[in-house]
Amino acid sequence: MKLDSSPIAAIATAPGRGGIGVVRASGKNLDALMAALFGAAVLRPRHATYLPFTDAAGAIIDQGIAIHFKGPHSYTGEDVLELQGHGGPIVLQLLLARVLEAGQQLGLRLAEPGEFTRRAFLNDKLDLAQAEAVADLIDASTEAAAKSASQSLSGAFSNTIHALVEQVTGLRMLVEATLDFPEEEIDFLEKSDARGKLAGVIEALRKVFQQAAQGALLREGLNVVLVGQPNVGKSSLLNALAGSDVAIVTPIAGTTRDKVSETIQIEGIPLNIIDTAGIRAVDEAVDLVERIGIERTWGEVGKADVILHLLDADHGPTRADENIVAAFPDGVPVLRIWNKIDLSGHKPAVDPMDDATHVYLSAHEHIGIDLLRAELLRIAGWQQTGESLYLARERHLIALKSAGKHLDIAAEHAAQSDQSLDLFAEELRLAQVQLSSITGAFSSDDLLGVIFSRFCIGK
Ligand code: GDP
Ligand code: ZN
Repeated sequence: MKLDSSPIAAIATAPGRGGIGVVRASGKNLDALMAALFGAAVLRPRHATYLPFTDAAGAIIDQGIAIHFKGPHSYTGEDVLELQGHGGPIVLQLLLARVLEAGQQLGLRLAEPGEFTRRAFLNDKLDLAQAEAVADLIDASTEAAAKSASQSLSGAFSNTIHALVEQVTGLRMLVEATLDFPEEEIDFLEKSDARGKLAGVIEALRKVFQQAAQGALLREGLNVVLVGQPNVGKSSLLNALAGSDVAIVTPIAGTTRDKVSETIQIEGIPLNIIDTAGIRAVDEAVDLVERIGIERTWGEVGKADVILHLLDADHGPTRADENIVAAFPDGVPVLRIWNKIDLSGHKPAVDPMDDATHVYLSAHEHIGIDLLRAELLRIAGWQQTGESLYLARERHLIALKSAGKHLDIAAEHAAQSDQSLDLFAEELRLAQVQLSSITGAFSSDDLLGVIFSRFCIGK
């Protein structure tokens, strides 16, 4: 991707009102912009200067602080100018308009989403995984997710990937040196302990994948669908899991009219819970409108990571429950939750059976809720390792998996007596390409476009 170095500007703080708001500009050289804005007043790089921000006619828009970061010592690696004014939407619009006007001669324009961070990447201030972590930190929905994102931003994930790349590179150099002396090929694997080294890389990669997959859980969470007849206690269960009153609980059947979607967290893992409010089998629909609604709900059920099917432990399943069970999509795990055990006299329990795992609890009395939480964490694949986690993206997991596959094939080549060093070397190269794609060493314009367009403007 070519670096477009025309100067850009945007409001960098969130829309709405706040104590302060920041307009940020970046470009190769912003001296002319600063002269247009502040005349003779000189901004010492990295020093806060308290100034009036005026419009072209000299009328004061706001009073605030200007900071000039001289490139390359800035977020983007270019000259950066930050104007900190009061955080009102109108005053910031005026300030931005003034900056754009003052920079017109320079070709200053409004920044695209993520353009500041894209420049930081293209100017080697951040690698790609770190740039992604910027967005993930901003979007983090739990404390654990924020901590992991900030770890990645500081380079912990990238450093781990670099270490793997270096190990693979080391192996490749060994192999390629040997390829130049074909008569020694046979001894090569023994002499250099290439097999042992490769096994070491494979093990290290496995561990990184594990940490990344766990971190991805913090990012994506688990999609949970609540299914059950009116009054079995879906809203009560949601409340019990959340630990606060997020849904409306009433003793009148069918209170939860529409789909309610709630995100709660268990040990920092977001659970995106959809309460389907008395879903029925499609052929039980009375009219077309209801049919469309029911089909849509079943669509959600099909995308879930787990279905919580609630039943009344005291009354047992109804005919409608049997029809629903028959309609459950294949491949989505089901927890059959027998609620109201305070009435039925069952003991709280988790009971894995052939048809589904059965859970006995009371939502209202908060009995057995911890068992359900633990079971949900188990389904999510959550293991508390105490290791730091990487808030990995799907893209990273795919690259790690693919790199692992190439290393495994390399190991197979190495295990054969008539191993071909050419093939061995080629698999190592492919593994390296995959690993390097994580930090962006070989990134396409398309990939960068996808990543940065999802940023907000001003970042
Ligand atoms: P929903 O329609 O499935 O969402 O059911 P609600 O959560 O609104 O609960 C319906 C009624 O069942 C309410 O009066 C709840 O207090 C009651 N209920 C929910 N869970 C329990 C439970 O574990 N034990 C008892 N005894 N009542 C419960
Ligand atoms: Zn309800």
